[in-house]
Amino acid sequence: MANWLDGKVVDNRRLNEYLTSLIIDVDIGAYEAGQFVRVGLPEADGVLARPYSLVNAPEEPYLEVYFNIVEEGPLSPRLFDLQAGDQVLVSDNPSGFLTVSEIPRCRHLWMVATGTGIGPFLAILKSEAVWQKFDRVILCYSVSYTSELAYQDLIGQIRAQRGEQFGYVPIVTRERHDAALGKRITALMQDGSLEAFAGVGINAADSHVMMCGSSNMITDVSAELNARDMKKHRRRDPGHYTTEKYH
Ligand SMILES: Cc1cc2nc3c(=O)[nH]c(=O)nc-3n(C[C@H](O)[C@H](O)[C@H](O)COP(=O)(O)OP(=O)(O)OC[C@H]3O[C@@H](n4cnc5c(N)ncnc54)[C@H](O)[C@@H]3O)c2cc1C
Repeated sequence: MANWLDGKVVDNRRLNEYLTSLIIDVDIGAYEAGQFVRVGLPEADGVLARPYSLVNAPEEPYLEVYFNIVEEGPLSPRLFDLQAGDQVLVSDNPSGFLTVSEIPRCRHLWMVATGTGIGPFLAILKSEAVWQKFDRVILCYSVSYTSELAYQDLIGQIRAQRGEQFGYVPIVTRERHDAALGKRITALMQDGSLEAFAGVGINAADSHVMMCGSSNMITDVSAELNARDMKKHRRRDPGHYTTEKYH
């Protein structure tokens, strides 16, 4: 059973009117890049909380979560309105298997994110372990509109630091973007343009694919990987892809 720790909001960094990053001062102890915590607010009869992936690397001083408002949701609109100095509750048991240590050794690691699913991959990219374990690391980041492409400065810094070892594939599906691909990830896999853009193939011999975000994307990409004789990874039955569904 998790305990609730008192956190303090240090900053609320809004990207637009429905996407934001909350920076939280709280000590949750040791955890691995890619894991999530539960973040909540006190209510008369308990705590209203939801899981959120951590964007910060574990060695950074503050926790960071990146999320969108779900209009009809009970918690996300309230978290969106928090300001510096406000109290927020954070669970003391970071969890999740979307971590580098869970992935079998192979040459190429693909990270496929839709929307706010970029969060855990940024934590992993900021940490050292992934660069020691894989020859190439490719981040595919799909959003609907250009204004939803978050953390572009950070991704630019990682590109500058890691050079050829890091591949970045931005995807914007609902409007034209000159530097991004423009179709759904599965369509880009089927017509070969995703791998051509990255200069790396996706196959059972060389690759592991991590996915995070919407269940539609995860279901569709998983089917495409299954068709390539790749299978879901389990600790007791190692495979080729690992998933975390947000909704
Ligand atoms: C392991 C895990 C980690 C998560 N990490 C993140 C994260 O880092 N960032 C993040 O934005 N969300 C994340 N989520 C989703 C998050 O926990 C909440 O569900 C979300 O913020 C909405 O909360 P809510 O209380 O307002 O609505 P909820 O009552 O949780 O959900 C209301 C409805 O909205 C759907 N929904 C949930 N999340 C989204 C979304 N992001 N976009 C559209 N529809 C959604 C739900 O399926 C449900 O139908 C994560 C979920 C899981 C299971």
